Amino acid sequence: MKLSLVIPCYNEEGNVQKFVEVISQTFKNKIFNYELIFINDGSQDDTLNKLKELCNNSDQNIKIINFSRNFGKEAGMYAGLKEAKGDYITIIDADLQQDPNYVLKMVKILDEHEEYDSVVAYQDRRKESGVLTFFKDTFYKIINRLSEVEFVMGASDFRTFRRSMVNSILDMKEYYRFSKGIFSWVGFNNYYMSYDVHNRLSGTTKWSFWKLFKYAIDGIVSFTTTPLRLATILGLIVSLLSLIYLIIVIIQKLFFSIEIEGYATIVTLILFLGGIQLLCIGIIGEYLGRTYVETKNRPLYIIREVIDNQKGKINDTKNKKNL
Ligand code: UDP
Ligand code: MG
Repeated sequence: MKLSLVIPCYNEEGNVQKFVEVISQTFKNKIFNYELIFINDGSQDDTLNKLKELCNNSDQNIKIINFSRNFGKEAGMYAGLKEAKGDYITIIDADLQQDPNYVLKMVKILDEHEEYDSVVAYQDRRKESGVLTFFKDTFYKIINRLSEVEFVMGASDFRTFRRSMVNSILDMKEYYRFSKGIFSWVGFNNYYMSYDVHNRLSGTTKWSFWKLFKYAIDGIVSFTTTPLRLATILGLIVSLLSLIYLIIVIIQKLFFSIEIEGYATIVTLILFLGGIQLLCIGIIGEYLGRTYVETKNRPLYIIREVIDNQKGKINDTKNKKNL
């Protein structure tokens, strides 16, 4: 098998059919075999039935991994990468925002350049609101400053890997997955290819601002412990400032007999210190909570069933020219 396409799907009933059609159209004249691995991530709409229909009626290699509930795109990607048999493996969304023609370009780049282990699609111009772009830019600035691995702005999960890189990604079994970080962390040589995002074919995005915010925190906590050090530094600075203030108060009292109006100062200081303490406990809590969850060692996802329209069939080896 030359290429596996991993497609996480959550409530994509309006897209999967068209997706398979477009793939079949795009790959029509290509002489390599490929498989489509759909992960049905606990969709509440008709996605599963649509996928089963496609699986029964299509002559393409289609596999459906049906999760027992919604585990999130990260878990879906992991499951897909694990099931993939291809020498090259592409992660692509089901909503056709990412034109499959780019997949062909990615395959070509990997075919022609042995030195690259993955091709990463990134957006030069992002089609989103200015506010969101601002927050995303800020996130990348912060995480790149704090973390030892580099996060490339605009880089998406739309990527094609060689198998060796996928094996390394699969070795990272952490529960809190922040794939963009994991992909950078494993290293290897990545080729960055700029691409234009289309509009969603149907349905709506699953990312609300709040979800993105939580995901950003996950990213920071997963890839750097610097915030813990910041808590220590913050504590040191506040202690130092309070010491200086104490000295000033003593001098004022002893040498100048200045009566200090205490009430407002005390209230402000108590609130200020209380805030800082809560902030630091919160930072520690973020790490501690994740440590707790990781020690439970729960599976990343649970599969209810796997449907494979090629089961029992021997892969067509005639077309393996490009391998
Ligand atoms: N997705 C998923 N599980 C989730 C949320 C999303 O498998 O819990 C899939 C979704 O079906 C789509 C891809 O992840 O194929 C990207 O999601 P979406 O299009 O909502 O994200 P966006 O393109 O807006 O960043
Ligand atoms: Mg999308």
